[in-house]
Amino acid sequence: MEPTSTPSAADAERGAHLACAPVREWVRLFVAGGGGAGDAAPRRHLSECDACAAFYREAVRAAACIGRERRLEREAAAKALRHRRLRRFAFGARSTRTGRLARLRTLIYPALFCVLAFSLANPVRFEPLARLEILGGPVHASEAALASAPPTGEATLALGELCATGNGGRARIHIGASNLELLGHTAVLLESCRRPRVRLVAGSVIAEGSWQVTSAAGVVRIEQGRARVSLEGGELACESLGGVVTRIDARGREVLSH
Ligand SMILES: [Zn+2]
Repeated sequence: MEPTSTPSAADAERGAHLACAPVREWVRLFVAGGGGAGDAAPRRHLSECDACAAFYREAVRAAACIGRERRLEREAAAKALRHRRLRRFAFGARSTRTGRLARLRTLIYPALFCVLAFSLANPVRFEPLARLEILGGPVHASEAALASAPPTGEATLALGELCATGNGGRARIHIGASNLELLGHTAVLLESCRRPRVRLVAGSVIAEGSWQVTSAAGVVRIEQGRARVSLEGGELACESLGGVVTRIDARGREVLSH
């Protein structure tokens, strides 16, 4: 538009490079949960620099993959331990073959009966699903960048998955009757669907219904209510907008009124 004030390509490149390094360091801290002080400048840069925006997406994706790997490892280790304990219990160290079989039978029959009774009493019992509603881009979940196309849409969010919004991005996680809105430049990790729980890595959310929002700086519990929770510069801020909102941090437990 204004050729006289447009910097040369070399200048622009040099300027971009000067600014990119600290921004990428900020992104590394952000996905590691240390985002905070002086966020405005890097956020502005991310909205203007395609290379750094791509770096941000990759960092979020990598963090989500690491989170999922850790969760799978933990689950596999817990399962192996359960099996070992059960085997040790079922086949005692000094039991005979017939003794072992008898012991197995006494274990298995009541267990089968319990499973049968339970499935009759609870014909349908699903783990609730988390639905991710994209209200405006950019929104990234671990599997794909959901932002670019379509501008609005839906996805399913798995346990342990990280969901992050970019500059101006907005998304809402639905679990049953509870929902949690992510404002711009916010990252959360889905920790539980049965009792809706997320870990706030950075940014701001508005939680409605029953939620537990955990963070490096403390925990906020919302019971049939509504609250805005932010983690900025390592500080957990919480504003109650209704219902019972409890904040637990290093200073203790506080029930917030609205
Ligand atoms: Zn850049």
